[in-house]
Amino acid sequence: MSNDLLHADGSLDLGRVREHLGRELAGIVHRHEKIQDHLQNVDREMPDDWQEAAQLVENDEVLEALETSSRARIEGLRFALRRLDAGTYEACVRCGEAINPRRLAALPVTSLCVSCAAQG
Ligand SMILES: [Zn+2]
Repeated sequence: MSNDLLHADGSLDLGRVREHLGRELAGIVHRHEKIQDHLQNVDREMPDDWQEAAQLVENDEVLEALETSSRARIEGLRFALRRLDAGTYEACVRCGEAINPRRLAALPVTSLCVSCAAQG
């Protein structure tokens, strides 16, 4: 729980939310670029040793999975920052109701209220 994103009165501290999202975005973009560099620079020539070859393929698959998940995270963070800019950060994107500030403090990238999130 990162309740440091809440004011003492329980409302969201949007300045700190923005800082928090921005910091996470900067870190993950940096990591994502390194993963992409690595994936692009991988020597596709397979070693003769099948165990070595299997290891290489496995490493690639792990990196590709990481690449996909960090890309999704980046999109989520950018979307949250755009909603902050637009002043709609605290409104559910599906039903338009206010999202509970404590939910946003715990899950700053969420764009759904509890009941919409429960509907999947
Ligand atoms: Zn909703």
